[in-house]
Amino acid sequence: MSKKLNIALYWAASCGGCEVAVLDTNEKILELVEVANIVLWPVAIDTKYKDVRAMGDGSIDITLFNGAIRSEENREMAELLREKSKLLIAFGSCAVDGCIPGLANLSKREEVLENAFKRTVTTDNPEGIMPELVYGDRKLTLPELEPRVSTLEQVVTVDAFVPGCPPPPELIASFIDMVAAGKKIPFGANLAPDISVCEDCDRNPKEEKILPDIIRPHRLKEDNGDCFLLQGVLCMGPVTRSGCSTRCINANFPCTGCMGPTSKVTDQGARFISAIGSILGGEEIDNDIEKIKELVDKIDDPVGTFYMYNLASSIVGGKKWRD
Ligand code: SF4
Ligand code: SF4
Ligand code: SF4
Repeated sequence: MSKKLNIALYWAASCGGCEVAVLDTNEKILELVEVANIVLWPVAIDTKYKDVRAMGDGSIDITLFNGAIRSEENREMAELLREKSKLLIAFGSCAVDGCIPGLANLSKREEVLENAFKRTVTTDNPEGIMPELVYGDRKLTLPELEPRVSTLEQVVTVDAFVPGCPPPPELIASFIDMVAAGKKIPFGANLAPDISVCEDCDRNPKEEKILPDIIRPHRLKEDNGDCFLLQGVLCMGPVTRSGCSTRCINANFPCTGCMGPTSKVTDQGARFISAIGSILGGEEIDNDIEKIKELVDKIDDPVGTFYMYNLASSIVGGKKWRD
């Protein structure tokens, strides 16, 4: 048997869902450990930073890096794992596009901390105590958050991308197959298919696309099985990369865009705004500004709707708080 590969899994600003997704491959993970030694996986194996620093440069064959870059520690580990890894893979939407942590780029980091530790409805902190970190003789009053959330690629060179929040088990399984077969992963590859969710969707698309209204999914009285857009429910399928087996649509929920854009789309949110702009209300409201405003006002949370996963990597939101 040829020499086993060294594989690392690491999490930065992450919810942990990407780690669970690896386990969701069930017995497939046994095929991975047949061909690879797991040399770093903080969620499962006790490895210290000093152990990683002691590894030779390029000694890790593949690192699956999930989570965005929010803190100095995240950045340091991204840089360290870049040095130590032959192949560094952005794994999951947080690493690929910034995902939910990236929405914090709407606020300054001080506001984020104030909100988290003093202002939320569930916070009971009458003395306004903030967390403290102690590094040796350095005592810091606030966690060392960077001014903004970055994607992994905004910090170090990334060799390939496995999108999704979290990546679908079938995509992880196909990655394991590639590794087990010794297949080369091309530089810059996105391992999800470069087609839109709509192309995989079984809902009745109809010839003519009209977005007749803006209705939040839970307010849709009767789902007639047509394309969500035709029923007035915003569905990011047209601008979102497939590879998830349309898992939300199958559960009668519109696509919110977690697989990120296809290669033909530069800015997922902007492209979707443009797409719905061309079908909003159909001919009936054409050029009636008041009616258009009325419909647009029904979008309760525009940033959360159009940029839920990709604000940090978008053209506009990715730069707002850059130093
Ligand atoms: S991509 Fe989704 S599941 Fe993975 S860490 Fe980010 S929020 Fe969690
Ligand atoms: S917009 Fe949504 S519901 Fe309509 S075809 Fe595309 S994925 Fe399906
Ligand atoms: S349907 Fe959309 S939001 Fe749901 S898993 Fe697929 S890409 Fe992600």
